[in-house]
Amino acid sequence: MKLVNNLYTYVWQGNDNNCNSYLFADVLKGNRHVVIDPGHITTPSYREPGLIKLFKEMEKDGIEGTTGLVILTHAHPDHCEAASMIREQNSALVALHEADGNIYKRSGGIVDIYLEEGELQLANGSQTRLQIYHSPGHSPGHITIYWPEEKVLIAGDVIFYRSTGRVDLPGGNAKTIKQSIERLSGLDINYLLCGHPYGHPGIIEGKEEVQQNFDFIKSHILF
Ligand SMILES: [Zn+2]
Repeated sequence: MKLVNNLYTYVWQGNDNNCNSYLFADVLKGNRHVVIDPGHITTPSYREPGLIKLFKEMEKDGIEGTTGLVILTHAHPDHCEAASMIREQNSALVALHEADGNIYKRSGGIVDIYLEEGELQLANGSQTRLQIYHSPGHSPGHITIYWPEEKVLIAGDVIFYRSTGRVDLPGGNAKTIKQSIERLSGLDINYLLCGHPYGHPGIIEGKEEVQQNFDFIKSHILF
């Protein structure tokens, strides 16, 4: 679904665990797209075809052309499994933070670009300027992506609706997720896009609603 400008959201609609995916259309050379967190190829418990569903939704939105870059917020399989297939089929590059690089490589993934804090360099002349924030705590190399022009934060598994990401998985850290959330709560956000539909689609819209969500997390969960 088109959310704003050239940003499309794909909220996971299945029954098994899988992530929400996001897409910036036409931001690379040759009108190619950036996909964030393509999720599972096939979900592990119910064998739902996550990647085929994602491609179908993209087609419904009239997304033509191919994906040139896959950005992974982190290297958990429910976010990154399909990246290798898109890389192969579309000759796309796969990008993530170095601190999640080993986890990704151990699962058979190939990393083309290590992302660092700061502005992501897309095609020359691209109107979409994205900022990468290193936001560890759920995983050591978790990143979030901020788009100042439309005040969008793609939060991955750091922040959910009235909840935060787990910190009990390998490399998780409660203290660092708290610091990451503190820092992100200082951004000017109109759309907070979460990594999963946990009891809520995970698209939190409106400055006030986003602020209330941060307030809830800070008062009920983090302190
Ligand atoms: Zn995760």
